[in-house]
Amino acid sequence: MLILYSLIIILIFSVFSILILNNYKAAQIKNNEIRLFQTANIVADIYKQNIDDIIFARMMLKSYSNYANARILIVDSNKKVLLDSYYSYVDKSIDNEEIRSSLQGQSSSNIYTLDSKEVLQLAVPITSNNNIIGSVLISSDLVAINENVNHLKEYILKIAISGLFISLVLTAIVTNNLTNPLRELTLGVEKITSGNLGYQVKKKSKDEIGSLVENFNKMSSTLSNIEKNRKNFINSISHELKTPLTSIKVLIESLSMGNRDIDTYKEYLKDIYGETERMEKLVNYLMKSIKLEDSILMLREENLEELLEETINIIKPYADKNNVSLNFSYKDSVTVTCDKDKIKEVIFNLIDNAIKYKDVNKKENYVKIFLDKTIDKAILTIEDNGIGIEKDKLEDVFKRGFRVLEGPTRDNMQIHGYGIGLAIVKSLIDKHGWHIYVKSSLDVGTTFTIEIPLSS
Ligand code: ADP
Repeated sequence: MLILYSLIIILIFSVFSILILNNYKAAQIKNNEIRLFQTANIVADIYKQNIDDIIFARMMLKSYSNYANARILIVDSNKKVLLDSYYSYVDKSIDNEEIRSSLQGQSSSNIYTLDSKEVLQLAVPITSNNNIIGSVLISSDLVAINENVNHLKEYILKIAISGLFISLVLTAIVTNNLTNPLRELTLGVEKITSGNLGYQVKKKSKDEIGSLVENFNKMSSTLSNIEKNRKNFINSISHELKTPLTSIKVLIESLSMGNRDIDTYKEYLKDIYGETERMEKLVNYLMKSIKLEDSILMLREENLEELLEETINIIKPYADKNNVSLNFSYKDSVTVTCDKDKIKEVIFNLIDNAIKYKDVNKKENYVKIFLDKTIDKAILTIEDNGIGIEKDKLEDVFKRGFRVLEGPTRDNMQIHGYGIGLAIVKSLIDKHGWHIYVKSSLDVGTTFTIEIPLSS
């Protein structure tokens, strides 16, 4: 990864450096060319005005040559050198592209390489009375420009090396910051795979990786809770099965010791029968719960208050037996699409709990069932004044196998249950696309609210 980043950085920097250097050199040459053309035109003007004063013309040429740091030649219309700032070409003939075009009235320039040195050469015509009488040729090597470019090249190279070094260090830090949490997450996944449910990874940043770590931790806690509930559930079922099994074992042991009369046998067998019935009830309950959740919904339009009344009538005798009054009221008639049997089961479970967890210290115990309706939803509340649920336990009540009351209650009474009723209620409500909430205060009571979206 680091190598790839380095290559990308080097590539981008190289392209930029080449572009900068090329532009810089071209601009320098252009400036030099403009300056030399100006000098050539001035020399041509001064020459034609002093054509007869050869000594002045020679001095003038020499001083402009020094000033421009270039060789200046004046040739006549036959390409013969009349004046040369370096003297050596005087009276010789010169023929090149620039002189030819200047004698035809065109100023031109070109760059040549002579003895591995770049030379800029240009020529302008000398005109007198509309006649071209000769031309001024200037040639200047580009050594100074190339030196400047080389300096710039060195400068860029230095910047490039330090830039590359800094970016590599930064890339290494960033890559490390990025891969470190991923490594820790991988470790977390390995821990969970090996059964360490609930393992938490330390969240170090608030970015996407940070929220990934947060979600991982949530998932891990959820898995751990599911596992804890599963264990609780198996534990409570095993406990429920163990009690009748122990009783049966003790009864059979007692029966097998010594001779007893037929009535004692009959009595013992009746007890054994009672215990097996208890076990059968539990197994049936479990099987019914599983079936309830797995089966497909048979959806139909149902009148909700009728459905509620039917359910309340079934549970009424049980409420009476427990001295709990059931009170049902509704504002409007509500028709909903639902699986009647499943929703009856939901209501039954909630009212059953409200009766089961009544507060024996209160004079009166009640369960109020109220059906309300707004434009877009029906709201069903089942409120009791029972023992209530502690705040910190509230969010767990819908989890499978969760029981607030483990062992005897405050009043030393045992309330039976397996911790799956509300899990089934939630699952059935979710299947219908409805919502269920719970509010509760310890010693005050509990209210379950079901929200049913109404199709318009
Ligand atoms: P259980 O078989 O234990 O009743 P549920 O899933 O029906 O299992 O309920 C889970 C737990 O929620 C119960 O153990 C009980 O502590 C608490 N609970 C449920 N309904 C009520 C209620 N109406 N009042 C007080 N506690 C309740």
